[in-house]
Parts: sequence; structure tokens; C-alpha cells
Amino acid sequence: MYDLVIRGGSIYDGTGGPARSGDVAIKDGLIAAIGKVGSTEGRQTIEADGAIVTPGFVDLHSHYDGQFLWDDKIDPSFSHGITTSIAGNCGVGVAPVSDEYQSKLIDFMTGVEEIPEIVLEVGLDWSWRSFPEYLDKLAERKYTMDVGVHLPHAPVRLLVMGERALKHEAATADDIIAMSAIVRDAMAAGAQGFSTGRVVEHRSSDGNYLPGTFALEDEVLALAKALGEGGRGVFQVAPRGELGNTFNTDGSDGREARTKEHRLMEKIATVSGRPLNYGVLEVFTDEADAGIMIGQSDQAIARGVGVYPMVSPRAANLMYTLEGYHLFMARPSYLEVARMPLAERVHALRDPVRKRAILSESDVTSPVGVRDHGVLLKYISANNEQSFILSSPMDIEPGPERRLGALAAAAGKSADEYLYDHLTAGDGTNVNLNIVANYFHGNLESTRKFMMNPNTIIGLGDGGAHLKLICDAAHTTCQIAYWTRDRSRGERIPLEFMVEKLAAAPARHHGLTDRGVLAVGKRADINVIDYERLTLKRSRIVHDLPTGAGRCLQPSQGYLATVVAGVPTRLNDEDTLARPGRLLRSTAFTPELVR
Ligand SMILES: [Zn+2]
Repeated sequence: MYDLVIRGGSIYDGTGGPARSGDVAIKDGLIAAIGKVGSTEGRQTIEADGAIVTPGFVDLHSHYDGQFLWDDKIDPSFSHGITTSIAGNCGVGVAPVSDEYQSKLIDFMTGVEEIPEIVLEVGLDWSWRSFPEYLDKLAERKYTMDVGVHLPHAPVRLLVMGERALKHEAATADDIIAMSAIVRDAMAAGAQGFSTGRVVEHRSSDGNYLPGTFALEDEVLALAKALGEGGRGVFQVAPRGELGNTFNTDGSDGREARTKEHRLMEKIATVSGRPLNYGVLEVFTDEADAGIMIGQSDQAIARGVGVYPMVSPRAANLMYTLEGYHLFMARPSYLEVARMPLAERVHALRDPVRKRAILSESDVTSPVGVRDHGVLLKYISANNEQSFILSSPMDIEPGPERRLGALAAAAGKSADEYLYDHLTAGDGTNVNLNIVANYFHGNLESTRKFMMNPNTIIGLGDGGAHLKLICDAAHTTCQIAYWTRDRSRGERIPLEFMVEKLAAAPARHHGLTDRGVLAVGKRADINVIDYERLTLKRSRIVHDLPTGAGRCLQPSQGYLATVVAGVPTRLNDEDTLARPGRLLRSTAFTPELVR
């Protein structure tokens, strides 16, 4: 007798092969049989007739380090078929920590990942100090999915070097010995790997660079070596130039700096003997950059050096709405009504007198409630006409006719007025967005090519971060609904290929050998999806964080079931309240490609 039988689906097992129809039987959290299963052999049944059955999705790039401590649902990822989520990326996180520097770690998370300070202050009780103690805290908790965490560089550097880390001084030999010891201990305790952030655009909320941004090669390679000694985990890098700014302290810039960065990553992979993944986006400052970086990785991999580019399946969007950030948020007449509940505020904003006032005003310099967002506001305003006016459901690849400037001109209005009317229409939840990467040519053709490369990993969802600006954790749904089914502006991607990219490929990269494919003996992490009906709905700000703070969620529709370790966590798009997910500690594995 099986615990659960998923009956009559079209099975995409994650190996990249074509679908076959059949049943999937589950016992004790594992897949026990695939094929034809007798109708009386399951204690519980999920009818999958007409649906597709895939492995649960494995997301290697999230920032739930704080959320793992106060939340067990792990949305937005939970609503999008993700059954394993790895946080602690980009060099930021919440452990290790000393008594002195707790608020600094919050500054890093707030500045780099745009998680409101107040949320982290209320949500974290700092009942841990070392990274192993932090993992033990997570091990006491239960989730909708398995969760793992990297040891992040910035907290390690701050703990060992104190103020010198904040001044970006070079690490001494003693510092390196102390940091290496922390890496060894964290890996032995089950960290998923080590992450470092070298992106100069990533700043803490006080404007300072992140500790580790300018770490020299001797430090980085020593930590890579310490990681490698344990024979487990991967090395994750947010490299210099990922967001376009390639400025290096050694004076190199542009192509030269990026090539150096790739060389450094090759050395890390070689010294550690571990797989490395790094983020790469098609930036607006250099059209060719992403292709060159990915090409260098292809060459490295061909030589047996495991440097894997992580690419995003869609454009990097900043989403503006009345409930989050928007062009008018610092205008005096807007600030008068800014604190009203949304419905009331929308009503007040439609008053023609107020509208005329807001449209004629300039931003106040330090408005209440929009502290620290001067830079963002300048960006919003500079790119206003180029932003896209979105219709529902979300258009992933909007054409030039959806740009605010074009729509306003056609309507005979100013761009500001057109936007104002758009944001204040309906129930006030309309959005416009700025695309900040992966849209150099105004389409996603290069994104498609990057995804089709067998060496890339698809990720960069940043779940748990950028709460009011970005909701890319929904990208897994987009990968299936948009890329394999809906795209009309160019070629689509075969579904069987995409399923492999969503589950098997990232699991393989991280040595998660027990999951990622549907096969007898593997973990029963499974999605049952109504393929025809799968939809990514429009983003919305939902006020459900500790303190009632808002965050952007992009709901989905069409997940008939998500199963984790044999237990349905989601049925017909609803949370079953089951929490079979646990902390995932790393285990030793031999990378496939690194010699
Ligand atoms: Zn990140």
C-alpha cells in the first residue's frame, strides 16, 4: 500500500527526455513506483489526468536568511512550485554575529536586499552567535519546503576584522586564519557553501560598501581552500560588474576588470575543487558583456573548471505602485494623503485639485516615510518615460508600444499625467515598471539563448529580498507558462528542457543527489500542474510581514499539487498547512565536472 498515488499525469521526469503518461506512487517520502499503479493501492490519490507532473523546483538563489526564522510558509517561493530554497547568497546573511554588530548585519540586508529594517529588527531575536548555532535554530523549525543556507562573507569578515572590515582594509594573515576556521566549522555543520558579494552597487543602508567587496585574492582563495577541505558545498559569487559597474580598486575597469573577475572565479573553483556559480545579467552599460562572460565559463567548464553562470529567466524589473515606491511619493500634496488606507488614498488622489497640485510639484528633499530613497526616486524619475505600463496578467516581454512615453504621446497627455491616471485607476493597484537588465534590445531573445546554454543555471529569483520593488521568486512559474507556452515575440523553449533546468540541473550543481528528478528511490518532491491553466497573476503588495509591513507577492494559479517529501503542501493553489520541509544540511559530494 502506497501513501500517495499521483494518477494519470504526463510525467516530465527532469532528465530532459520527452513526457510519458503514468502514475507516480509514493511511500515513506520517497518515490516507490512510476508507471501503472493499481487503483486500490494508494491511501491518498491526486488525480493528474490532463496535467503535467514534474520534480519540485530547486531554487539556488534566495535571501530568506531572516524570513526562515519567523515564517514557515516561505512565500513567494511556495506559491511557485519551489520545494528547495537556498539562502545566504551574495555575501549577506544573519550569521555569524557578535553582540556588537547585530544592527550592522541588518544594515547590510536592508541596503543590499531592500528588506525593511523594522522587519528584521522585530523578526530576529539574535538567539544565535555562530553560524552552526544559526543552523541549529533553523533545524528546530518546519517549513513548506527544504531550506539551506550559505555561509556569507560579509558577516564573517565583520566578526573577525571589526571596524577594519567596514573600512575595507586588506585582511592580515591572522584574519585569514580566523576566517578560514569559521568557514571550516560552518561547512562541517552543514552550510550549503560560501557566498561572497563583490558588486559595488550593493551598499549597506548607510551607503558603505559591503565587507568583502574589495577582498583581495589571497583572502578569497584562502577561504575557497577552506571550503574545499570539507568536500562539500559550492562557492557563490555576486561578481564585480554584475550590475554594470566594473570599477576595481586596482585601477582596472570595463572588459579588463570583468576578465579579471572571471579569472578569479576560475581560480576559486580550481583551488577549492568545488563548483562555483555567479550571477550574470545583460546590463545596459555593455551589450556584449553577458555573452562574453558565459563564453568564458563555457571554456573553463570544457577544461574541467566548474564556473557556472546563473542567469535570470526574465528582465530584471523594478515595480512601482501606489502601495510601494512610485514617482509621486515625495510630492508635498501626495505626502498629505500618503498614510491613508489605499482605497481612501485613491479617492483623494482622484480629486482634480490634488492631482493638479501633485503634477506641478517637485519632490521634497527629506520627506517623512521615504527616508533613504532619494537615489531610487532620482532613478524612477530619470527613467519614467521609458517605464512600461502593465496590463494584467503580467506581460513578461512588453513591446515598445507599452512604454509610458509612447502611450502618453498617443493619448495626448504628459507622461506624468498618463502615469498618474494609470496608478490611480481602478482599485489603485496598477503598476508600471522599469526594466534594469536583460532588455538591451527591448526583448528577451538573449535571455532565451542564455537559458538554452547547457552550462547555465537559471536562478537569481532573490526570494525574500527587494520586498517592495521586485518579485522575481515567481520566475519558476514564468519559466513554464511564458517560456514553454505563451511567448509570441520569438522562439519558445521545450518544456522537457525547462523542467530539467528547474529541478535536475540546480540539484546536480549543489550535489542534492536525492532530488531533482522523478525516479524510484528519489525524494517525493513533486509538482502537479494544470499546464493549460498555469498563470502568473499581477504583482500585489500584501501587508503580512512582522509589523504589518508590505511586500510584493505575485500569485500563481494552476498548481494542482506541490508535494514535499511525499506530503502535499499545496492542493488546488491552496496551502494545506502541512510543513514537511526541514533544514537541509550539506553532505559531501564529488562535483561532476571539476577535476
Ligand atoms: Zn542575491
